Amino acid sequence: MTVAAVAPRSAAARAGLAPGDRIVAVNGRPLRDAIDFQFHAGEEQLALTVERGGITAAKRLERRGSGLGLELAPPRPGDIATCANKCVFCFIHQLPKGMRRSLYVKDDDFRLSFLHGNYITLSDLDDASFERIIEQRLSPLYISVHATDPELRHALLGRPRHSAEILPRLERLAKAGIRMHAQIVLCPGLNDGAHLERTVAELAPLHPHVATTAIVPVGLTRHRERLPALRSLTPDEARALAAAADGWQRRALAELGSRFVFLADEIYLLAGLPLPDAIAYEGFPVAEDGIGLVRQFEDGFARSIARRRRPDHGQSLTVVTGELFAPRLRALLAGGGYDPAAVRVAAVPNDFFGPAIGVAGLLTGRDIQRHLAQAPELGRAVLVPAVAVRDGDGIFLDDLTPADLARDLGVPVRVVQPTPSALLNAIRDS
Ligand code: SF4
Repeated sequence: MTVAAVAPRSAAARAGLAPGDRIVAVNGRPLRDAIDFQFHAGEEQLALTVERGGITAAKRLERRGSGLGLELAPPRPGDIATCANKCVFCFIHQLPKGMRRSLYVKDDDFRLSFLHGNYITLSDLDDASFERIIEQRLSPLYISVHATDPELRHALLGRPRHSAEILPRLERLAKAGIRMHAQIVLCPGLNDGAHLERTVAELAPLHPHVATTAIVPVGLTRHRERLPALRSLTPDEARALAAAADGWQRRALAELGSRFVFLADEIYLLAGLPLPDAIAYEGFPVAEDGIGLVRQFEDGFARSIARRRRPDHGQSLTVVTGELFAPRLRALLAGGGYDPAAVRVAAVPNDFFGPAIGVAGLLTGRDIQRHLAQAPELGRAVLVPAVAVRDGDGIFLDDLTPADLARDLGVPVRVVQPTPSALLNAIRDS
């Protein structure tokens, strides 16, 4: 493991560690990855074996408090386990050529599932990895289920070499006490209807080990070349799904004490239905996957508005979002007393990926630039959602930067975190 950063005056700094050092063992135990480091580095006294410039040395660390002041470098693409699947709906297969290389990494790595909540199929997981998950209690894990019918799942995963049967794998982890979050990418005409009902019914007995089952709609870009024919969910199908999910939730609540099945926000937005109340998300365990984020935002917005003496009238600016959330955001701002002629919400169509992609997180800099260039007025600033730029370096998916956008549009561009208070503060301060 390579040290990425050392906090000043921390235990790691006192031990003389520096960025670039390679930690090869902790208390004599060799490290395979960051999870091994976490697993072995919980003790108070640590003896690290460290390589620097070809020389190996021992470093002693004494943990005072919780942190060591040590940041490890993320795994390089070559160190990540990748999938051998060809899922019919894979988003990576639908990316155009020429984007940055990291976007094409088809990770299917249980370590990233544990550390970062990435979804894994378990289809290539060998016995040693199962044993490691169980021994190191790597829980929760995030599992792409899609269907419990073995033949259907095999087809959805693009007919991989190995059996794709999921239930025995989930049962093995459940028996060992590993907690899991299941996900179903819903492809109309393939794994919906009776198939979906079966999947939900066969996952439910694994609760509470399978803690939640999230249903998300398939995302189809305009770059589906030589890929299986698929279509997007229609608004009518989204409404029918919301009604079915309501029934499953009621039954699960009575039988399991949890609603167990949760729909992606996109499905309610597509259906034109209100989002369920916050209580129905049971603590928002999978909000990062778009399950309840809109409800959190809307409730947080109402609280933030109530705390402010009066809305900041008179600001003239443009707030960028995707087409899916734009009507909701306009309604929220109008309800909060903001003049829609002054605080304008720009619903930016996604030309890059195509009209079926309406979320803000997949907007490119050029689409924002092209759309806003046609606006009669932008006001004093343009606010872009932080979810559309990459963590760390703040670059859009197409490598444009907010500074490029500001230069092209001739107004300041501010990147705003996806929280109500950040948005309202940015409106006030711009
Ligand atoms: S598991 Fe399927 S969806 Fe995920 S990266 Fe592999 S092919 Fe794509």
